[in-house]
This record gives sequence, structure tokens and C-alpha cells, in this order.
Amino acid sequence: MFDYLIVGAGYSGSVLAERIAKELNKKVLVVDRRSHIAGNAYDHYNEDGILVHKYGPHWFHTNDKKVFDYLSEFTEWRFNYHRVKTYVDGRLLPIPINMDTLNELYGLKLQSPEEVQAFFDGVKVDTGNPANSEEMVISQVGEDLYKKFFKGYTLKQWEIDPKDLAASVTARIPTRTNRDDRYFTDTYQGVPKHGYTEMFSKMLDHPNISVMLQTDYKDIIGKIEFGKMIYSGPIDSFFDYKFGKLPYRSLRFEHETFNQENYQSHQQINYPNDYDFTRIVEWKHATGQKSPVTTITREYSLLAEEGMEKYYPIPKEDNHELYKQYKAEADKLDDVIFCGRLADYKYYNMDQVVARALMLFEKKLSNTHQE
Ligand SMILES: Cc1cc2nc3c(=O)[nH]c(=O)nc-3n(C[C@H](O)[C@H](O)[C@H](O)COP(=O)(O)OP(=O)(O)OC[C@H]3O[C@@H](n4cnc5c(N)ncnc54)[C@H](O)[C@@H]3O)c2cc1C
Repeated sequence: MFDYLIVGAGYSGSVLAERIAKELNKKVLVVDRRSHIAGNAYDHYNEDGILVHKYGPHWFHTNDKKVFDYLSEFTEWRFNYHRVKTYVDGRLLPIPINMDTLNELYGLKLQSPEEVQAFFDGVKVDTGNPANSEEMVISQVGEDLYKKFFKGYTLKQWEIDPKDLAASVTARIPTRTNRDDRYFTDTYQGVPKHGYTEMFSKMLDHPNISVMLQTDYKDIIGKIEFGKMIYSGPIDSFFDYKFGKLPYRSLRFEHETFNQENYQSHQQINYPNDYDFTRIVEWKHATGQKSPVTTITREYSLLAEEGMEKYYPIPKEDNHELYKQYKAEADKLDDVIFCGRLADYKYYNMDQVVARALMLFEKKLSNTHQE
């Protein structure tokens, strides 16, 4: 008999399992249909001995000290600012667009943030309140930079014209007037020193926690007794798709190992306009691993079809409306807590999903048990 059945061994499931087992001293069963823990953050050593992330590159970054301190109970860190280059017009340029991007691209000699701002002011388009992704970008950096840096990348990633995508999709990408070439400016940035999977195995290492892998929760319902359920799988699947399927983007990864120390200058290079892939990641730059060989991964974006991994919820109004129908059903269930990127049909960064799980524990679970 378990107090909780937790579906999914990713961040949502593992954080809640750890909190419930340790703080409430309750018995928890975590099930995942995959053959491993850590959800989409899973990393492993490939056949060439290189530590790679199976479901696409995961760079941890946060300003949330509480989240950072919590995860630090289970790992040390390799701090590393994430820096990305974009291949435009045959050159590797810094992204987010900054002073150096403009100088290198246009052969300018801008030297102060004021000069850079004056450049942006000269090219930006007055769109009023930006209504979509295209307007969001051109209202900041104008048409040319939009076409060179954003349009192709967004089209590859979503197969939707940026005019038809919510403004919020590109609003997350900053532009800089100085020379700061960090992709994120968060205080804490890096990767777990010994990898994500190692961090998750420490989180789940508690006598009150049992883990069953390669198990769909639907196959054990009725066979295992439990009190409440915490569900971090897809919300539409929970309700047997009764209102229809929520659409997702999927990814295809092409890995290649080279008999040389390094392949490219940075851990991530984006390709907005050339080739079919969106980006190439070289893992050793992020992990600091030493090896005479190196593995790179090319990433291709595609619509998720039957049997494919679901990666990104597609941010369109009608999808959100469909999600709301499922959410209304979920709200009627007292004994199931829905939590996570698939259950909430929402893109969360890792720190956000940890913060959400910690908040759920504090607000919903620890109170329930004090009553
Ligand atoms: C390509 C990509 C790159 C990313 N990069 C970053 C990054 O650089 N930085 C960052 O902060 N965030 C990044 N993220 C976001 C990060 O992956 C998520 O925040 C995190 O995975 C969410 O955790 P979760 O527990 O909600 O979901 P998941 O990690 O997906 O865990 C859910 C688990 O539930 C299991 N499950 C589903 N259905 C069932 C079922 N029926 N029975 C049993 N188990 C089931 C799944 O197998 C899965 O393991 C990235 C995401 C993607 C897609």
C-alpha cells in the first residue's frame, strides 16, 4: 500500500516524491514508462564515452535561490555561462543580438550602449502593441535583423509563420546594447557536476520511495493500492483524449562522434537560415569532459505524430482552449494532482518546474497532512 502513486520520474515527479518521502514520511511509488529516471533531463554516456543529453540540451539557469539551494542538496555544479553563436551570412555571430553582433554583421564601429540604442531606434518598426511574434521582434530590432536571426529559426522550429504565433514566443529573447554575450543573465547557471541522472538518483534515494520503470501507470491501476495520485504525464492521455489530442512539436536528433578533441567553438550554434537542422550542440563544452573524441548533436524540429516524443506544447489560442477543457475535468478530481509540462500543457524551464513542484508541496500536500 502506497500513500502516493506518482506518474513520471522527471522533475515534477521526483521533487514531489522526495518531499513527500522525507518531509511527510509517507510511502511513494514512482512509475515511469521510460527505462530511466530524470524525464527529459536524462543524460547518459554514449558508446563513445561522451556524456550526452538524450532529449536535447538542458542548460540549467535560475535566479531562484530556493530552487538552486534545493537542487544543490543532491548535486554539486559545474558553473558555466551558456553562450550561443548564430550562423548568419557565413559568419558566427553572438545571439542575443548585442553590440558585437551589429558591428560584425554590418561592419560598424558602435562603441557605447547609446550608439547601439540609436541604431535600434533607427531600424525598429512602430507596430503599436505587438500582436504576434513577428511584430514583437521588428518592434525591437527592425526587419533586417528579424529576417536574418528570427524568421527562419521560428519557421523551422514551429512550421508556423511568426505572424501567426503569439508575441510571447519571441518576447523571451532579449537584445542587448552592450557586449554581454551570455545567453541567460541568471545568477546560477551550469549543469550538475556529475550529470542530471546522477542528481535525480540521489533525489529518489530514500527508503520511502520505490521506483518502477518501463511501466505505464494505466497497467498498474487496480493492481497496486495507493491513496492519492500525482500525475505528470500528458493531460489529454489521462482523459483518453476525449476532447481530442493536444498538439506538440517533436524533435529528431542526429548524433555524430568525431575523432578529434573539438568540433565547434561553442556548446551551441544556431542555424536560422541554412540547413534543415535548427542547431548543433557539442556536449563537451558544457560538461567540461576531457576526451580525445567529441560528440555533436544536430537537432531537427517536426510535428509530433503517433508514437513520437512530445517536446513543446504549440502556443496557439485554439490549443489553449482545448487544454482548458481538460483542465476543467482535472479540477473535478480531488485525489489526483496534475503537475508538470505535459500535465499543464505548458513549457516550463527546469527551475520553473522545480519551483512549481515545491510550491505545490507546500500549499497542497504539507497542509493536507497537517490537518
Ligand atoms: C528539447 C528541450 C530542451 C530543453 N532545454 C532546457 C534548458 O536548456 N533549460 C531548462 O531550464 N529547461 C529546458 N527544457 C525544459 C525541461 O525539459 C522541463 O522543464 C522538464 O523536463 C519538465 O519536467 P517534468 O517533470 O514536468 O516533465 P518530464 O521531464 O517530461 O517528465 C514526465 C515523465 O512522465 C513520464 N510519463 C508520461 N506518461 C506516462 C505514463 N502514462 N505512465 C508512466 N510515466 C509516464 C514520461 O516518460 C516522463 O519521464 C527543455 C525541454 C526540451 C523539450
